[in-house]
Amino acid sequence: KSGFCESNSIFYSKRDPMILPPPDQHLDVTTFISSQPHRGKTAFVDAVTDRRLGFSELWLGVKRVAARLYSLGVRKGDVVVILSPNSILYPVVSLSVMSLGAVITTANPISTSGEISKQLEDSLPVLAFTTCQLVSKLAAAAAAAAVSAASEANLPVVLMDGDDGVKAHEKGVKIVGSLETMMESEPSESRAKQRVNQDDTAALLYSSGTTGKSKGVMITHRNLIALAHTYRLRFGLEQRTVCTIPMCHVFSFGGFATSYIALGWTTVVLPKFEMSKLLSAVEVHRPTHLTLVPPMVVGMVNGAKEINSKYDVSSLHTVVAGGAPLSREVIEKFVRNYPNVKVLQGYGLTETTAIVATMFTKEETERFGSSGLLSPNVEAKIVDPETGRLLGVGQTGELWLRSPTVMKGYYKNEEATAATIDSDGWLKTGDLCYIDSEGFVFVVDRLKELIKCNGYQVAPAELEALLLAHPEIDDAAVIPIPDEKAGQYPMAYIVRKAGSNLSESEIMGFVAKQVSRYKKIRKVVFLGSIPKNPSGKILRRELKKLTTSKL
Ligand code: AMP
Repeated sequence: KSGFCESNSIFYSKRDPMILPPPDQHLDVTTFISSQPHRGKTAFVDAVTDRRLGFSELWLGVKRVAARLYSLGVRKGDVVVILSPNSILYPVVSLSVMSLGAVITTANPISTSGEISKQLEDSLPVLAFTTCQLVSKLAAAAAAAAVSAASEANLPVVLMDGDDGVKAHEKGVKIVGSLETMMESEPSESRAKQRVNQDDTAALLYSSGTTGKSKGVMITHRNLIALAHTYRLRFGLEQRTVCTIPMCHVFSFGGFATSYIALGWTTVVLPKFEMSKLLSAVEVHRPTHLTLVPPMVVGMVNGAKEINSKYDVSSLHTVVAGGAPLSREVIEKFVRNYPNVKVLQGYGLTETTAIVATMFTKEETERFGSSGLLSPNVEAKIVDPETGRLLGVGQTGELWLRSPTVMKGYYKNEEATAATIDSDGWLKTGDLCYIDSEGFVFVVDRLKELIKCNGYQVAPAELEALLLAHPEIDDAAVIPIPDEKAGQYPMAYIVRKAGSNLSESEIMGFVAKQVSRYKKIRKVVFLGSIPKNPSGKILRRELKKLTTSKL
C-alpha cells in the first residue's frame, strides 16, 4: 500500500518498502551491521588527534571488548552506561555491549551529576564507560544514586582514555580497566554466545516523551536494524561525514554509531560542536554529508560570508537537518549561500529511533516547511486531539505512527508506555502535523509539553519539580519561549508564597545551580495562580497564549 487510504484513514509510506530479516531470526544489531557488504576502509577519524580506526580494527576491537566485558560478568539484559563526549571509541563500546545482548544507556556529558544520578537510579547499570575528565562527575552521580538505592557497591568503571594505572579515589566508582587495554588484548577465555532476539532491548536512551520526566526509551535490535535499512535505501555507500552532534542522542547514535557504519561511511568525529572546528574538519577531510541540528544550520547561514571566504566547503553536497523545526527563511538563505548543497529535513523522535520522515531528492527539498515523506514501512494517522476522530489529507491533528522503528516501550514504566503506544502499536507523537496530498509531512506545532533548546530535550516537569522544592514558591509552570537561534528556551510562570519577595534572578540562579546549561530558565513571570483544568493539569496552551501576547 502507498499513500492515503480512504477506508481506514491511514497514510502509508510512498517509499519503496524495505525487506527486514524475519522477526523470529536470532540477530543482534552488531552482527547485522558487521555483516553488511561494503568496501569502506576507514570507519572513524578523530578530528583532534587524527587517530584513525579502520573497519577491520573496529570489528576486532568490538570482539575483544565484548569478550572482556563477558569475563567481567556482563550478561544479556544487563545495562552498561556510557558517559563520554563524542569519540571514535564510542561506537566500539556501544557495539560491544549490544553484541552481548546487554543494553547500552547513553548519558549526556553536559548533564549535571544530579541529572545523571537519576538515570543511574532508573537504569541500574552494572558497569560504566567514561573518560578521565568525566570520572568525578560519574562518581558523584553514582554515589548519590547508590545512597538512594541503599546500595553500598561502587560502580565498576572502564576508562576510555586512561590506562589501568589511573586510580579513582572518588567514592561511588571503582576502576576495573581501560578500553585501550581491552581492545589490544586477545580474549583469554571463550564465551558462551547468548542468543539475542531482535526484539530484545539494545539501547536505553532517555526522553521525556509527551509528558512528565525523562524515561528510558527501550530501543530494540530490530529498531536499529530497521533504521540502518532506512539509511541504506536513502543514502549511497562509502560517503564521508562529520559527527558533531552528541552520540548520546538518538539522532547521532542511530546514524554515526550504527547505521553509517553499516553503509561503510567514514565519520570524522569532533568531541563537541564548535563552528570553527567543524569547518576546519570539512576543509581537511572533505566530507560529502553533514548532519546538523537547526541552530548549527542557522550558524552556517549567519556566518556564510566569512565561511565561504575562509574555508573550502566545496566537498559538501548534503546537509541532513533534524531534531527540531527549521524555518523556510533559513533553508532559503542556506541554499542561496551554499548553492551546491541540498538541505534534507528529517523528522523523528527518540521513541521512533530517530528518522521516520525525510527528504531525499533535490525536488523534495523544495517542499519548504515540510519534513519530507514517511520512511519505508512507516504508517501514519492524523488524529483530532479533542475528539479522537481520524483526519484526512491536509488536515491538522496529532501524528500517530506505526513503524518497525517504534520503541518497545518505556523502561520499567508500563503506565507511560500504555499512555504512549496503543494496543494496535500506534505511537502518539505529541506533535501537531498534517500530511499533504503528495505524502509530505508538515510539523505544525508541539502538542506535548516538551521544550527543545539547541536540539536538546528540556522536560518542563523536571524544572517544575525543582521550582516547587523552593521554600518560597507556591506553584510553577514551565513553558517554551521561541528563540531564533536556539529554537526555544524554557521560561517559568511562578506563584510566590504569601509575603515572599523572591526575585526573577534569584529563581533563575536557584535552577541554574542544579541543571545543565541548556535547561536554564531564561525568563520568569509572576502570576496570582497557574491556570489548570479541574483535574489539576496545567493549561500550557493558555500560558503560551499569554506569553505570545506579551512578546
Ligand atoms: P527527540 O526525542 O529529542 O528526538 O525529540 C523529538 C521531538 O523533536 C519531536 O517529537 C518533535 O517535537 C521535534 N522534532 C524533531 N524533528 C523535527 C522536525 N524536523 N521538525 C519539527 N520538530 C521536530
